Amino acid sequence: MSRMTLRELGSFVLAIAVLCVPALAQSKPAADLIVTNAKIWTGDKVRPQADALAVVGERIVAVGSATDVDAWHGPQTKVVDGQGRLLLPGFNDAHVHFVDGGDHLQAVQLKDAATQQEFADRIAQRVKKTAKGEWITGGDWDEQKWSPAELPTKELIDAVTTTTPVFVNRYDGHESLANSVALRLANITSKTPDPPGGQIVHDAQGEPTGVLRDSAQDLVAKAMPPMSHAHRMRAIRQAMEHAASLGVTSVQDMNPSYDDVKAYAELQERGELTLRIYVAPMETDWKDQAKIGIRHAFGTPFLRMGAVKGYADGSLGSETAYFFDAYTDDPKSHGLLSEEMHPPSAMLQRLKGADAAGLQICVHAIGDRAISMTLDMFEQIEKSAGKRDRRWRIEHSQHMAAKDFVRYSRLGVIASVQPYHAIDDGRWAEKRIGPDRIKRTYAFRTFLDNGVRLAFGTDWSVAPLSPMWTIYAAATRATLDGKNPEGWIPEQKLRVPEAVEAYTMGSAYAEFQEKEKGSITPGKLADFVVLSDDIFHIPPAQIKNVKVEATYVGGKLVYGGLE
Ligand SMILES: [Zn+2]
Repeated sequence: MSRMTLRELGSFVLAIAVLCVPALAQSKPAADLIVTNAKIWTGDKVRPQADALAVVGERIVAVGSATDVDAWHGPQTKVVDGQGRLLLPGFNDAHVHFVDGGDHLQAVQLKDAATQQEFADRIAQRVKKTAKGEWITGGDWDEQKWSPAELPTKELIDAVTTTTPVFVNRYDGHESLANSVALRLANITSKTPDPPGGQIVHDAQGEPTGVLRDSAQDLVAKAMPPMSHAHRMRAIRQAMEHAASLGVTSVQDMNPSYDDVKAYAELQERGELTLRIYVAPMETDWKDQAKIGIRHAFGTPFLRMGAVKGYADGSLGSETAYFFDAYTDDPKSHGLLSEEMHPPSAMLQRLKGADAAGLQICVHAIGDRAISMTLDMFEQIEKSAGKRDRRWRIEHSQHMAAKDFVRYSRLGVIASVQPYHAIDDGRWAEKRIGPDRIKRTYAFRTFLDNGVRLAFGTDWSVAPLSPMWTIYAAATRATLDGKNPEGWIPEQKLRVPEAVEAYTMGSAYAEFQEKEKGSITPGKLADFVVLSDDIFHIPPAQIKNVKVEATYVGGKLVYGGLE
């Protein structure tokens, strides 16, 4: 056969094809699952709308009309009536702190404490349920809800926590309050110097108030006993259940510990993962992944790694986001660069190493100057290592310098954003940064206009994990205090399909998985959700009340149901 002519080859191939067609038709597997009578928004430009889909194993095999899909019907096929409801690709949250989130579900809840007194009362109640030697952590307090909006102090809780160490965080994670017991265990006194990238807040007498900013929080964190394996597994299981109930089928976990990754791997092995996880451990440890040759998006459909995540600055709420111009309400302060940016050249060296090893780079940057400095680093890496498909990500991308939108687009940087923060910070952001910078704050529309890719997420547990709240936030920009029903900086609103796209294909692209998920397309993983209402046709203000009826991951029902 080595001397076959082209013509002979042609008829040979044809003969094989003719022989094989009936055999193939007979062996075509029947669908395990067919969802019919649904209103499918596929997110796939080839076929944007459909009524039915079929699944074999963990993948979608057909999308189309009821008749198209019925060709896959077999005796064992489970058929689900979509009841005419909206079916979407599963939501992919591009930025979560998953174990923290699960842990917070079981922790003391301080976020909606309306006054300092209520804050103290809830901690006092928690003390009664806390075993000796155990810490009270979590909380997510928000002093902006109190009047006056003053930071809490250890004096507020010391009397009710005389033997229990307390270390409760502000909801943005950039500040925490320690009580006197915790300060003592961490050896923090009036003489303790501020660590780089952090601050120990002092009162008028020079005593620590208990509030620790950014890296200063590590001083207390180091004194805490490590989370046990059982505790971690419990937190992950709770987090997965919560995610399934909200229609979240993939998450991208920022700064997990290696113990977290180990727990995910163990759950995967037992077949217990009910959502897909991409992990991005801390950038300072990039060599760990590099030395065993792990590159971006390495792993299985359920668990992948190969990214690193770093920090360039802090947050707007704790006045540690780093700006070119001073804070409007604090003319002495420009914010703080992160500990890892001391000096920026050290960060650049590490990111160059990570990039050369084929790892994906994600950098937290919120203030316009921190964002600009991150783009400078990306430019320098591209200059020395050449152009390729890197999918750099700037996590948060909150306050933009006008000149930098085009740099995102030119460098192919993904804006990994969390719209819920916009309706939350929108209550007070303008007094902090003034009327000019506010126009380029959470500037989702300007990103799209500049051809920049968006990936949506929540930053859970900093904000709720709910996709409905996130889409509501992007589409309405109605601040949580009800003061901007028509939208805060309304020109930056997105249309609902744009928001859903950013949450599905946008997030999939941000983790190099756009060929595997992100749309309802034959061949892709069968991750999808069915909603109680059609979010494309109800007033956007109602989207936050929409419920998830059913969540499927890899063709398996992981929440709810339509029967
Ligand atoms: Zn985060």
